This record gives sequence, structure tokens and C-alpha cells, in this order.
Amino acid sequence: MNETSPNGSGQTTAERLANVKADLAGIRDTQGNRIGDVTLIAISKTQPPEAIEPALAAGHRDFGENRIQEAQSKWPVLKQEYPDICLHLVGQLQTNKVRDALRLFDVIHTVDRPKLAAAIAREAEKTDRAPECFVQVNTGEEEQKGGVLPQGVDAFVTACRDEYGLPVIGLMCIPPLNEDPALHFALLKKIAARNGLDGLSMGMSSDFMLAAEMGATHLRVGTAIFGPRMPR
Ligand SMILES: *Cc1c(COP(=O)(O)O)cnc(C)c1O
Repeated sequence: MNETSPNGSGQTTAERLANVKADLAGIRDTQGNRIGDVTLIAISKTQPPEAIEPALAAGHRDFGENRIQEAQSKWPVLKQEYPDICLHLVGQLQTNKVRDALRLFDVIHTVDRPKLAAAIAREAEKTDRAPECFVQVNTGEEEQKGGVLPQGVDAFVTACRDEYGLPVIGLMCIPPLNEDPALHFALLKKIAARNGLDGLSMGMSSDFMLAAEMGATHLRVGTAIFGPRMPR
């Protein structure tokens, strides 16, 4: 098993994972209280099963992927070996992939339009197994990015709850690359609060400490755990 990173830093995945967890254990929120339970999702996209195994062996169980087909090629086998894995979908979801997604994923972070919410609700009813859902918010109002625009979130969350009966547990955002993520985390938190939502899926390798300090409940961390991604 090749456990060392391809960038020659010499750190193994297990070491990087332990470092991230140690960093998180040390931080406090703006009131000086220790940060409570935050779910660290190891984003394993592009990583082969051999690269994921060390994290599993270290006891980690929350993982995230952004493509259905890639997830199908890796996780059914790993889930057999480790039945308590919790798998998070963090990439855009097409309605024609909803059935496949719900077979594999426990949490969907990218619910962002009525058609998708309806498809998830329909499939959940059929299989009697509803995934936990985050509504993705396009806080930077970027054209190419998925997510509901900030001004549309309240109505969409209400529809998800009342029309579709989806278990919405929070909001998710991916801040624009060249902007201060703190502004986007603050906006997400504000919108969540006024909708009575506790979950905040925010923070990646470059800003997960900031996100945790600002109240994230779910961090999505890839390269800081697995090292640089190989091209697909
Ligand atoms: C890839 C990805 C991440 C992790 O990115 P890193 O910078 O490697 O931590 C987090 N969230 C989403 C939606 C992603 O696609």
C-alpha cells in the first residue's frame, strides 16, 4: 500500500488526517468556547481505494465524493468492509442520477432546485430511505455555480419541507475562489439561522479552520487529508 503523498512531503494520509483533527481539537469559537462536534468529511474524489484505506484504517468514517459514477466504482466494496461509513455527495446531482445517488449516499449537500427536490422525495418514498439534505446556496451569485441564490433560499427551504417533505438539516456553500470566505460563511450562517437550520456545510482545505471557528457543522476537506489530487 502506497501511503505516502505524491508530492514528496513524506506525510502519510493517516498523519495528515491526525494533524487536521488535532488542529480542529484546539480551536474555539468567537465566544471562546471549545468547538463542539464538527463532522469532518474526507473528500476522496479522484483518490483510488488504496489512498482511502489508510483513513478507514485510522477509524475515519465520513467521506465525500462529487461524481456518482466514480463513487459507484469505489464505495460499494468499501462499504461492505466498513458498514458504518457515512457517504456525502458534494457535487451537482442530475435528476436522472437520483436513484443511483440514493442507493449509495447518506447525505446530499447539493439540493438546489425544485425538480431535484421532487425527484429525491419521490425516490426516498419509494425506497423508504431518505437521505439527510443540505440546500446549496450560491452565496457568490456565480453564474457557473450550482446553488440557490441567497434571495431564493427561504422559499426553497420552505418548499423542501412542506411540499416535498425532505429532511433538510442545513445549508452548504462553496465561496468564490478569490473572495474572502468569511463573508460567505457569515451570509450562509445568517440565512440558516432565519430558517431555523442548524447545519452548516462550509470550509475546505484552505479555510476549514476559519469555517469551524465561524460555526461550521460539516467541513469538506480533500487535499489537506489525501494530498494533491491526481488528474482524472
Ligand atoms: C473537492 C471539493 C472539496 C474539497 O476540496 P479541497 O480543497 O481539496 O479540500 C470540498 N467541497 C467540494 C464541493 C468539492 O468539490
